[in-house]
Amino acid sequence: MEHCKEYRTNLALRPDGDTAELSQHAATCPECAKAAKRAAAFDTVVQSAVMPMVPDDLTARLLALVPGLAQPMVRSKRWLRQRRAFFAISALLSVIGVAVLIYGLYILGSYVGVSEIWHTQ
Ligand SMILES: [Zn+2]
Repeated sequence: MEHCKEYRTNLALRPDGDTAELSQHAATCPECAKAAKRAAAFDTVVQSAVMPMVPDDLTARLLALVPGLAQPMVRSKRWLRQRRAFFAISALLSVIGVAVLIYGLYILGSYVGVSEIWHTQ
């Protein structure tokens, strides 16, 4: 009875990984052998289940069938690349702009004499 419990727990946890001792138990216990057969049949059914292939644009096509619904915004990869490049160039120009602004303030400060105030303190 204790072997039955251990065998069925093991069967539920890892159906393909019996130890030799547990396999020996199934050979002598008709109830556990029946449980193993049922588990194997279930695994076969699950493994042979058909996985339907779904086209990538299924959502867009289904939404297009709904009257009065706006077309979903579909972006091309080219558009996404252009947008990424736009943001990268914008960030670079922002950094350059801030650097030029700081340098300009530094130059302006030296003309006005701010740097002399700093050096005298
Ligand atoms: Zn048993």
